[in-house]
Amino acid sequence: MADRYTQFVNSQIGEKLADLVGLPKPSTLRRHEPGQPLLEGPVLLGGDGRLREVVNKALSAADIDVHTELADAEDTPRYAALVFDATGLTSSDQLVGLYDFFHTTIRRLGGSARVVVLGTVPTATDTPAEHTAQRSLEGFVRSIAKELRAGGTANLVEVHPGAEAGVGSPLRFLLSGRSAFVSGQRFTVGPRTEHPPVVPEDIDRPHAGKVAVVTGAARGIGAAIARTLARDGATVVCLDLPSAGDDLARVANDVGGTALQVDITADDAARTIIDHATERHGGIDIVVHNAGVTRDKTMAGMDEKRWNMVLDINLSAIERINDALLAADVLEPGARIVCVSSMSGIAGNRGQSNYAASKAGVIGHVAALGPTLADRGITINAVAPGFIETKMTDAMPVATREVGRRLNSLSQGGQPVDVAETIGFFAGPDAAWLNGTTVRVCGQNLLGA
Ligand code: NAD
Repeated sequence: MADRYTQFVNSQIGEKLADLVGLPKPSTLRRHEPGQPLLEGPVLLGGDGRLREVVNKALSAADIDVHTELADAEDTPRYAALVFDATGLTSSDQLVGLYDFFHTTIRRLGGSARVVVLGTVPTATDTPAEHTAQRSLEGFVRSIAKELRAGGTANLVEVHPGAEAGVGSPLRFLLSGRSAFVSGQRFTVGPRTEHPPVVPEDIDRPHAGKVAVVTGAARGIGAAIARTLARDGATVVCLDLPSAGDDLARVANDVGGTALQVDITADDAARTIIDHATERHGGIDIVVHNAGVTRDKTMAGMDEKRWNMVLDINLSAIERINDALLAADVLEPGARIVCVSSMSGIAGNRGQSNYAASKAGVIGHVAALGPTLADRGITINAVAPGFIETKMTDAMPVATREVGRRLNSLSQGGQPVDVAETIGFFAGPDAAWLNGTTVRVCGQNLLGA
């Protein structure tokens, strides 16, 4: 549900008034509905590199109408997406290829359009000139993302040489309504491992037959994660504190999963999770570390209790549980771990030195652990939400809330489901070669990188 201001400027009278006084006009974003096609119109595929063929095939397999030549404006006035394979750009003088493709086509995009640029991971290139050219793509994409209107997004997918077959999963996610609040981001595919991406048989139920554990599932983002994973086929173990028992039972009931009352900081938390999931559901395929708290104070005014509590719940408990799950070898082959970080862990926030330290630590944790899990076919990634409409952000003072909400390229707060969809993407069987990475779900927040 869009916030009231967004609803207002999307009404006839509100739109006129916003135009008259120059107010921001956030669009109603295109969000995923089961059964919906990935895109409502054709994609123009440009560029010439090692990904072009694989991308063309992946798009056609997803029933997308792919144009490889710019059509007459009379025949095809609007494109739903522009996809550009920039892996062939190996020196800075070739960057003009971006200009040549986008200069005219960008005006032909429809509402909630998508721009996806595909590149090579700069550090995995062959020459300094190629590294330079590939590094340019990030600045280009982040700027395009700020220029798009009407709910459009632009993102960069960098692919390691050899991991071309892994590009389909981020591509499908980014073109779809599942990525409504993800813009200006960089996704990294690869390195390739012996555990290949598996495209789900039913694109609407990528988690069919999987068992997922979601911490902090009683409300807010955690409840949305439980609902989204269950909608997409998973059996969900909904975990939260005993004090949240009633809400937890409701969510578990709604999603046809089970409720597990555990404090994740307890010594026996991991053992309780393992026993419950294996006895009741026969194993664990997906773990989502979402539970988290804030206890804000500036450094000078912060007592040690606040510091320790936030670090323990948001970071140390995740490390302990992951260590225990991995040591017990209970994660099924192809298992996925997804952690919830925060924009605060990237940009920092006044009064949140404890919280930002914990959330930055989460980014480090996934980066460090990812490569160590690759040969077991397990991945670990993180999402870093920006301003998301929850009880937490509802409780902010009005002015702070309004600034937080509008200070991103989409001029609105995200919904819990936007975070949940991104987690679902990382948890998918086709996301096998995305590992150790963090992606922001923030509508391209104007604060931070
Ligand atoms: P919330 O407070 O609404 O929900 C958090 C849930 O975690 C609650 O149900 C709570 O009972 C549970 N929890 C807390 N401590 C626990 C413990 N020790 N053991 C088990 N469960 C525990 O928060 P939310 O807004 O839904 O946020 C969810 C996650 O997203 C958090 O990690 C938060 O830091 C992160 N996040 C939120 C936003 C936002 O805008 N809301 C932005 C960035 C990051």
